[in-house]
Amino acid sequence: MNIIQDFIPASNGNRPGYALNPTYITIHETANTSAGANAAMHARYVKNPTTAVSWHFTVDDGQTIYQHLPLNENGWHAGDGGSGTGNRQSIGIEICVNRDGDFQQAMRNAGQLTRQLMDQFQIPLDRVVAHQHWSGKRCPANIINAGGIEMFRTLIPNASTIPVEEENNAPAPSPQPTSPPSNGSGNQTTGSIVTYLNSIGVDSSFENRARLASQNGIQNYTGTAEQNTRLLSLLRNGQESSGNTPSPSPAPPPSSGSGNQTTGSIVTYLNSIGVDSSFENRARLARQNGIQNYTGTAEQNTRLLSLVRNGNVTPPSNSGNQTTGSIVTYLNSIGVDSSFENRARLARQNGIQNYTGTAAQNTQLLQRLRNGGSNHSSSLPKARQGEGIVDYLNRIGVDSSFSNRSRLASQYGIANYRGTAQQNSRLLNQLSG
Ligand SMILES: [Zn+2]
Repeated sequence: MNIIQDFIPASNGNRPGYALNPTYITIHETANTSAGANAAMHARYVKNPTTAVSWHFTVDDGQTIYQHLPLNENGWHAGDGGSGTGNRQSIGIEICVNRDGDFQQAMRNAGQLTRQLMDQFQIPLDRVVAHQHWSGKRCPANIINAGGIEMFRTLIPNASTIPVEEENNAPAPSPQPTSPPSNGSGNQTTGSIVTYLNSIGVDSSFENRARLASQNGIQNYTGTAEQNTRLLSLLRNGQESSGNTPSPSPAPPPSSGSGNQTTGSIVTYLNSIGVDSSFENRARLARQNGIQNYTGTAEQNTRLLSLVRNGNVTPPSNSGNQTTGSIVTYLNSIGVDSSFENRARLARQNGIQNYTGTAAQNTQLLQRLRNGGSNHSSSLPKARQGEGIVDYLNRIGVDSSFSNRSRLASQYGIANYRGTAQQNSRLLNQLSG
């Protein structure tokens, strides 16, 4: 197998350049079934300055693998946020699904590459995960349909030589998670989560344990001994609110992958998914996604676009159905994915722990979202008494040059900005009010 290093230009917005020390490998499929949509084509696509996402390797059925990023730099591929473990600690591999390719061979090639990377970075088999693991997005779809990441793991050469805790007995994943009954039943002496789940007649597969873990607030479940002990303790103590757990939809609509997938404009993209594209809301989204001092520069917009396309968008405030008491109705009214997975993500982002969809959690989430999310306090700090626009901008770390003020002015509907006292005071009021 031959790897061509064809890196995304460093000036591109989709080459974030955060240091990567890989501890996971994330498997994707390109979802592009067009004839000719092979690794070489994706290498061209990912270098396009308007492409918002990025990953490390694309593999097709041929002998040539394309590498798009150095392995000490992260990409935006996992949909778990600007500081998410998937985006910041995993190597992303895209497998081509072009209709004129041999997908089985492409998967085997990806398995071989995965083996090389596992050896190079000492990554254990249980840290080879699906994109779905990070964000809930149904990717890699064909692999998920064919048995999930466990199926893919069987295509990794010498996979069985890597010890993986409790993975060997994992049966095919069940389509629906099953929750244990509340405390007091089952094997009360075992130290093994698998034995315990079996004793109470609950699916003990990796997939179901992962689901139970995430429902119980254990992040990034990979089946470590520590996580298993914690999960066992939580389940035995009846902390799982089994009665209120809704069944996730069989094929949740992904929060990423929707909307206008070709535009390079954050405003066009947000409009296409029914989300408020005002400066204030973009500033809020930027802040929530780790972009400091958002002023709407081209670079910030490209980065924000990349992040929200990857699944980080949160709903706007003050829009949508303002009377309903149902979170699902409300989310639908503002065009936001109301699946259990997405609600769980929104809950987490808004400080609601261990979301299982109880009535109380739903009411709390509805209130927080209607009020503009956890960071509702105005998008920019208040101006101080007697403070001018330049001092104000400098204090909050925003470019106070004439050209930036002029740009901000036009965004706030102040025409023909020349920097008059009146315009400056209006701008200050708009920004800080
Ligand atoms: Zn993916």
